[in-house]
Amino acid sequence: MEKINNGNLYIVATPIGNLEDITIRAINTLKQVDLIAAEDTRHTLKLLNHLEISKPLISYHRHNEDVKTEILIKELKNRKNIALVSDAGTPGICDPGEEVIKRCIDEDIKVIPIPGACAMINSLICSGIDTKEFTFLGFLPLNKKLRKEKLLEIENSNKTIIIYEAPHKLEKTLNDLKEILNNRKIVLAREITKIHEEFIRTDIDNLINIAQNLKGEIVLIIEANKEKKENELINLTIEEHYKHYESKGFDKKEIIKKIAKDRNVNKNEIYKLFINK
Ligand code: SAM
Repeated sequence: MEKINNGNLYIVATPIGNLEDITIRAINTLKQVDLIAAEDTRHTLKLLNHLEISKPLISYHRHNEDVKTEILIKELKNRKNIALVSDAGTPGICDPGEEVIKRCIDEDIKVIPIPGACAMINSLICSGIDTKEFTFLGFLPLNKKLRKEKLLEIENSNKTIIIYEAPHKLEKTLNDLKEILNNRKIVLAREITKIHEEFIRTDIDNLINIAQNLKGEIVLIIEANKEKKENELINLTIEEHYKHYESKGFDKKEIIKKIAKDRNVNKNEIYKLFINK
């Protein structure tokens, strides 16, 4: 058994459904650490009971990240070994972890990955959609403006897109995607590694018809927009470039910012061109 050293933070992936999806190294790490920081201690306790491991637990979730990060740093400086786990899959991927990891790096504390399950990777590899290049967007924002920006990114992306979605928000997300996807392939991966695991490989119109009332955990994998090259917009005239964003419903200020970003120029230069618009 690999011996663990003192004062390290171990980022331990746990199963995303099937309890057998935990590595031997993850189990050995959980057995040896002094403390386990968990997103939900009750949830992790069930896993630990299943593995017959008994360890002190400390909660570490989105709403106490600041305070708990400092406590964990103190313990690590006292040469304690700590494992960080989330409720499912890989910590830090749409789960808490980032804060304490960044602080450890600042403090020269070793951060060690203990790899394992991750919903996005396992959905992608079985989707049948290109895996060479992809963009993971996590959950789409609920804020209208930010959501519009992400949808535009999906519309124009020449890479495979992966998003996480909650079942009660699926219908809205699919309707938003219908506006931008045309006949691009989309795969809905549901309940992977669990009894009702399912991959629906189809297009957006068909998916909307069959996805009503789908339950469980869901990942969407969207084919790249093969007609678009990423920099296509900069080949437009500046007027066409403006109209492109105007047709998507962006206001003047947002459009100027976007054009400046696409063309890598100062936004004041673009502003001067459209001062009377
Ligand atoms: N850290 C996790 C990981 O490594 O994938 C993700 C946590 S995030 C809070 C939860 C989301 O991940 C769910 O809403 C769903 O989109 C996706 N997810 C987690 N487990 C899944 C599963 N078994 N099947 C499909 N999607 C899953």
